Order: sequence, then structure tokens, then C-alpha cells
Amino acid sequence: MSLGSFRPPSRVLMGPGPSNVAPRVLEAMGRPLIGHLDPQFLELMNEIQRQLRAVFRTENPLTIPMSGTGSAGMEAAVFNFVEPGDPTLVCVHGVFGQRLAEEMRRAGAECATVEAPFGSPLDPEEIRMAALRHRPRVIALVHAETSTGVLQPVEPVRRVCDEVGALFLLDTVTSLGGHPVLVDEWGIDICYSGTQKCLSCPPGLAPLTVSAQALERLQARRVKCRSWYLDLSLLGDYWGRERLYHHTAPISMNYALHEALNLILEEGLEKRWERHQRHHLALVAGIEALGLRMAVPEAYRLWTLNSVVVPEGVDDALLREALLSRFGLEIGGGLGPLKGRVWRVGLMGESSTPANVLFFLHALEICLREQGLRMEQGSGVSAAAGLLG
Ligand code: PLP
Repeated sequence: MSLGSFRPPSRVLMGPGPSNVAPRVLEAMGRPLIGHLDPQFLELMNEIQRQLRAVFRTENPLTIPMSGTGSAGMEAAVFNFVEPGDPTLVCVHGVFGQRLAEEMRRAGAECATVEAPFGSPLDPEEIRMAALRHRPRVIALVHAETSTGVLQPVEPVRRVCDEVGALFLLDTVTSLGGHPVLVDEWGIDICYSGTQKCLSCPPGLAPLTVSAQALERLQARRVKCRSWYLDLSLLGDYWGRERLYHHTAPISMNYALHEALNLILEEGLEKRWERHQRHHLALVAGIEALGLRMAVPEAYRLWTLNSVVVPEGVDDALLREALLSRFGLEIGGGLGPLKGRVWRVGLMGESSTPANVLFFLHALEICLREQGLRMEQGSGVSAAAGLLG
């Protein structure tokens, strides 16, 4: 049977991404197409680059949305700055760090890793020791590990990069637009993100920015980037002054990103970070009032992705299914070693609202009771409401 004209159900998206998208962004996506070399579209490309520099907090000239999801950003970051045989170091504290290491190996790097158990941050001293042993040309780190809910402090890793002369590659897929990401102040050389998390745009573009130091490395490559599609020296000519055709930019996605960035800049980055923090703290208060535990130590918790320990005796999948089918509310399950052990509750971009915090806690309480858990009625909602003002 055909689905006919597909009408998706209405969902509250509180999983690990995508997050809900503002009507203004969806409306922008539906506007008429123009050609990807139309002078008006070129104007839009210029403005998107300026907006992205503001959101990344950088002056880097090469700051563009890669066509493709966050993984295109990751692959571009790796394949452009790694040459076959290069020693590299990946700091792994979750699934996306593992993926970065896999990308490095596929790009031909001699990739070493330093690892932390899922749910814990990495020890900067261990990163330093590994870097001194291995002398990497690139050190890669996931800022916000979506698979665990851990926020990894960046500045100690910057110091290690300086000590060994490595480029610093940072994945900010789950932090850009939700947590401070200060590319120039922190000295990040290669930084990428995705549109569908805290930027609250549909998936399909991967904002990326490259420092002057990294650009020099790119220009001095011994062999061409192994990916033609993601080759930043070609893409730079498309997004830069030359406007040399490279590929057909996804026009409607760029309309959407432009509008999503308008919304972010209208709100103000600082205010947006504070909003994410406030709603995270309210959610944690509610979770603890229900008698549940957060999976990550307090100092390392993401505001954008909250890992909650699945209580003893509760069926993880059954509860998530009940939230989705009865309340239209999506949350995520655990990944890798955390499968079945945590719920991942996203509070990203448009989804980070007081109403969503309270709705989730209310729905969660109902579903937990149905599985036999006892708690004081409304305790989660009232603890959270106390912090929401
Ligand atoms: N890096 C991180 C930290 C992520 O959370 C994700 C996706 O969730 C990715 C990379 C890959 O992004 P995408 O799924 O958009 O390709």
C-alpha cells in the first residue's frame, strides 16, 4: 500500500537529534528554488558564511556549510588534514570518537587513541602522555559526546596541541548553538557541526570552519585529498570569490540554515547558552526528584543531551515506545556499552523549552508508574517548575 502524500505525525523531539524545527525555518525551506549560481543565491551564500562565523565565534575566512550531514563535516575534517602515513591521535570517550578514529584509519593515518570509559571524561594528562609518545600531526576530540552526554573540556587539549605542534580538530555536532563554542579564543583549527541538533534546522548540512594554520597545512599537502566531493581546496573556490562550480548546493537546505541562523542571532548566543543550561538544570532537578539518577558526573554534563540511568526493573525499550506512541515524545536509548542502561534526553535548540521539560517529566512519571515504580505524585514536575520560574 502506498503512503500517498506522506504526512508525518507531530512529535516532540527530545532524543539525540534531530530536534524540533521552528515554523519560520520550515517555511523558508518551502520557498521557490533559484539556481545555485544565481546572483541572489550567491548573496545568500555570503550571508550564511558571515552568520556561521558569528555562531562559531571566528574570523576564519574558510567557514562554510558542507553539503551532507554531520558525518560529511567529520569526513571533510579528517580527509583534508590527514595524509597517508600521518601520525594522529583521537581522544575517544564515546561512539563518535570511535567513528573519528575509524575515519582517520580510512584516510590512511597511523591513528593512536586515548580512551575513557563511556560516561566519563578523558584525563588531559593521559592525552598529553599519548601525544608526547605518538607526536601526532592532528589531535581530534568530540566536544559533546552525544552517545554518553559528556562535555569534554577543550582548553587542556589545546595546550597539548601547542606542546606537540598538532592541529586541533573538534567535533561540535551536539554543542554548537547550545554550549559556548569559541573557535578563535580556544584556538581550534578545524571545527565542524551538524544542522539538526542545537541549530534546529533539518539534517543536511555540516557547518565547518578552518584556521589559517590549518589552511597552510591544506595548501602544503603532498597528495590530493582522497575525496573529491569533500575537497576543501575545491569547495573554497566555490564558496569563495571565484565561484567555480563544484557541485549543486542543496538550495532549500541553505534557505533553511540561513533562517535558523537568523533565529539564533536574533536570540543572541549568550542568551541561548543560558537557556540551554537553565532547562538542563530543571530537567536534572526533576529527574532526581523522581528518584532517578543522571549517568554523568555533574561537572561534565551536557546541557543539550541528558543521560539518565534506566532504573532497576524498568524495561528501557517499552518505556521509550510508550512515550512515543502515547505522548508523541521521542527520546533516545543508550548506544554501544550504554545500550539498555541509559536514556538520552535531548534539550536542543527549539526543543529546549520549559514546556518540554515539564511535559517529559510528567509523561515519564506516568510511564514509570505503569512499570511498577513508586514516587510522590508530581514530584518531578514540581521540582523542575521551581527552577523554571
Ligand atoms: N558527531 C557527533 C558528536 C554526533 O552526535 C553525530 C550524530 O549524531 C555525528 C557526528 C554524525 O552526524 P550525522 O548523523 O548528522 O551524520
